Amino acid sequence: MMMKFYVASKGDHKSNMIKSMVEKYLLDLDLEISQEAPELVISVGGDGTFLHTVHDYFHRLEETAFIGLHTGHLGFYADWLPEEIEKLVIAISRRQFEIKEYPLLSMSIHKEGETKPEKYLALNEATIKKIEGSLVLDVKINDMHFERFRGDGLCVSTPSGSTAYNKALGGAIVHPSLSTMQVTEMSSINNRVFRTIGSPLILPSHHICQFVPVNRDQKFVLTIDHMTKSVENVVSLEYTVAKERIRFARFRPFPFWKRVRDSFISDEY
Ligand code: NAP
Repeated sequence: MMMKFYVASKGDHKSNMIKSMVEKYLLDLDLEISQEAPELVISVGGDGTFLHTVHDYFHRLEETAFIGLHTGHLGFYADWLPEEIEKLVIAISRRQFEIKEYPLLSMSIHKEGETKPEKYLALNEATIKKIEGSLVLDVKINDMHFERFRGDGLCVSTPSGSTAYNKALGGAIVHPSLSTMQVTEMSSINNRVFRTIGSPLILPSHHICQFVPVNRDQKFVLTIDHMTKSVENVVSLEYTVAKERIRFARFRPFPFWKRVRDSFISDEY
């Protein structure tokens, strides 16, 4: 069966040129373009582009595998260079790749008067902040009251998102083979009256973390990867490691710790 693919572009000149080039090569090799039902999606741009692209295919995670080509700096998701296109398209046409699955985060928003929660998946993280004033909410782990948080916000990240916002918040970098989620604080208030744990928490896949607003009149700003939404009348927010997983097409070894070193330390070794 002919493989169906789709190439998504960041939209700038260089990424569009590379998109056209990849499409031409793959069509010449008898593959078929399908935006609706691709088996393989090639995202051309950066990690930001990759996030946008993946969200468009969250409804078919079991059927679609992803690969990222970067047109700026080395990315965590976009880790192929434009110079490697020919090698890549040949490997694609021969189906010479393995599938690596990484965990995703699941978030449910439970609102007053609504029986069904709103559900979201995140590849990097989900955060909660307040528009005005401090965020005040109870953090529960597996239904046990853990702490009352006061501060700027909280971030719950996936292992592959641990190198993104989570890292800027002082969270640990977590290998994506571990099915975990990590909760990090944004400027918590800690004094003689208010107390939070202060350290990032890494939870296993069978644990549930809940944020329960102390006051339901509060308006919150939620982010899910690149998306932002404001919500009110929130009864609770529930986070777990998702049952769904993202599938990466791996054409050559590129160990996670090498990507971490090359991105944050140096690639001159
Ligand atoms: P953006 O603000 O335009 O870009 C955020 C930066 O994060 C880009 O440089 C992007 O890389 C990089 N990035 C994305 N995912 C990454 C990952 N898994 N590991 C390492 N770096 C990663 O926003 P955007 O492009 O829409 O991306 C949304 C993401 O921005 C969020 O999911 C969040 O993780 C991140 N963010 C970070 C901070 C912070 O570090 N203080 C604050 C807000 C949001 P590329 O340049 O390759 O696209």
